[in-house]
Amino acid sequence: MTRRRFSAVLALSAGLLALPSLVNVPAVYAKSANKSFIVNRVQTKDPVVFITIDDGSVITDGLVKLLLSKKIPVTNFVLSEALKTHWKALHRIQRPGTSFENHSETHRLMSSLSLKEQTSEICRANGHVRGNYKKVPVFFRPPGGSHNSNTVIAAKKCGIKKIVLWNVEADQGKIVKSSGNSIQRGDIILLHYLNSLESSLKLVLAEIKRLGLRPASLRDYLDPAPVVATTTTTTLSQ
Ligand SMILES: [Zn+2]
Repeated sequence: MTRRRFSAVLALSAGLLALPSLVNVPAVYAKSANKSFIVNRVQTKDPVVFITIDDGSVITDGLVKLLLSKKIPVTNFVLSEALKTHWKALHRIQRPGTSFENHSETHRLMSSLSLKEQTSEICRANGHVRGNYKKVPVFFRPPGGSHNSNTVIAAKKCGIKKIVLWNVEADQGKIVKSSGNSIQRGDIILLHYLNSLESSLKLVLAEIKRLGLRPASLRDYLDPAPVVATTTTTTLSQ
């Protein structure tokens, strides 16, 4: 980063930090600290975690209300089928910090497919996301987390910038972290669009608030704009 550009970032950060706590500027070092193409958590010093929701077939009014009223940034990994049949409901949760990303076209396990098949799954799903969301997906989450070296090749061919896995899962009234510890800054939390999503999400939000953490936008940390000029992190309210 040039000296002039660095100064500009610092000046911008200082200006934003003077605002109330709703404003959070992702650390400028975040991009260089997260160089791996496959991630299951984010390296950051900010007190943030990342809420990700997969598949996309059950969207209740209560869920939409919860996400919008609390201004929760969510990274959605949606299937092509869900985009086709549920986009009208899904797009209601759009707000700054919420993005729609690639979860494959048909939810097949990547490690069971050839390179050609994996490329087709990812590139075709990109087209479906772009067709509805009007933005290009930058992240790919392989169904079930299944991947191999061809998945990396295929994802890069399709223009994907990161394969995003997770290290915390929440469902059915439980939060499970693979390491067995409690949720920590930088964790990527997996939920699914199921009937239980609203209650699972409430559980997660209460827990991260208790731990002094906030939900943030994955794009801000893993695919940040050159100079961060917007805010997408939120302070949890009651
Ligand atoms: Zn899935």
